[in-house]
Amino acid sequence: MNINEVKQILEQYEVSVKKQFGQNFLMDNNVIAKICDISNITKETNVIEIGPGLGFLTNELKQRANKVLCYEIDHEMVKVITSRFENNHNVIVKYQDFLKANIDKDIDTLFNDDKEVIVVANLPYYITTAILIKILEESKKIKQLTVMMQLEVADRICGKPSTKDYNSLSVLMQYYTECKLAIKVGAKSFYPEPNVDSAVVLVKYKKEITNPALNEEYFKKFNRIVFAQRRKTLANNLKSGFGYSKELIEEILTKNNISLTIRTEALTVDEIVKLSNEFYLAQK
Ligand code: SAM
Repeated sequence: MNINEVKQILEQYEVSVKKQFGQNFLMDNNVIAKICDISNITKETNVIEIGPGLGFLTNELKQRANKVLCYEIDHEMVKVITSRFENNHNVIVKYQDFLKANIDKDIDTLFNDDKEVIVVANLPYYITTAILIKILEESKKIKQLTVMMQLEVADRICGKPSTKDYNSLSVLMQYYTECKLAIKVGAKSFYPEPNVDSAVVLVKYKKEITNPALNEEYFKKFNRIVFAQRRKTLANNLKSGFGYSKELIEEILTKNNISLTIRTEALTVDEIVKLSNEFYLAQK
């Protein structure tokens, strides 16, 4: 695929590129093939694609997978892919905002089999974080994600403690999954070119969480609050976010050999889970 071919498809279907929907079409066939290779897609795999756009990635997915379920918010793009894939019965197109989708219900009704379900997508960058959090929090059926995103967000997701990239999203992702920055992709691979670099992250769900949270809802809230103000210490975030007393905070941090002046970003995922468990038990 090259720029002229993309423009030709846009003209042929009389559709325009919409910036407000984060439309940057991936036209680099090598990157498309690599995305599918690292996803290990076989005829035993059902794929969810968020934002198929003009269908370049979809075209490769449909050849390798059992079924592909595409969610697309832009009715013009729906028109294009419905027409391009009208003879492909393994491509299901849903004209819907993915953020409003009932993912697991759709998996049951639209795939209607026991095959493994994975997500493969070149995400709309303006809602990357919201999409990832939705999948993590709502779906029990998805086992793996291969997702293109802004390089900066990829660095955050894979971020390690005590680095500038490490935040609550890193902790949430690394609590449930193993994340690996798999491919860096330059702006020239897209039309129109985005003004940021991109990366494909391979996210595999852990089979078992070794140190689980006692209460996942509390852990998620705790994780948000302890990172709420990066310049503040962990203790101050706990005080302002939860209103816990100085005595309780000192008691629990000291018991866990954690300095009272530490910043949250210095803590590992396991340490954050352990602390959240201690505070959860103390406030019950
Ligand atoms: N997959 C195509 C490709 O790789 O060339 C297009 C990727 S483009 C970065 C993002 C796509 O997501 C666009 O087609 C856009 O219309 C769609 N999109 C944006 N917001 C969406 C949402 N909330 N739900 C579903 N699709 C959305």
